[in-house]
Amino acid sequence: MNIDYPHINANTLGYLLDSGEVLNIQCRARDCRHHKDLDVRWMIKYANKKGFEGFNYPTLHKDLVELFNFKCGKCGKSDIGFSQRAGK
Ligand SMILES: [Zn+2]
Repeated sequence: MNIDYPHINANTLGYLLDSGEVLNIQCRARDCRHHKDLDVRWMIKYANKKGFEGFNYPTLHKDLVELFNFKCGKCGKSDIGFSQRAGK
């Protein structure tokens, strides 16, 4: 269990899509804290294109960072975290 990401329960992109839960990405830079919701459908397609089984792609921090190489859209730093919440 990764102590940095206690809100992530589901462990695949397919689960996220099925459950309608929202995956949010946050910049951890102290002076930024920019955050936004990610498009899980897009993530699955992207993973498929990269040769993974997108639906079964894991949502652990290290796996997301490795495949998507996320950077903050505001400050450009790659010190980011993820959280998950129930959809509407
Ligand atoms: Zn930032």
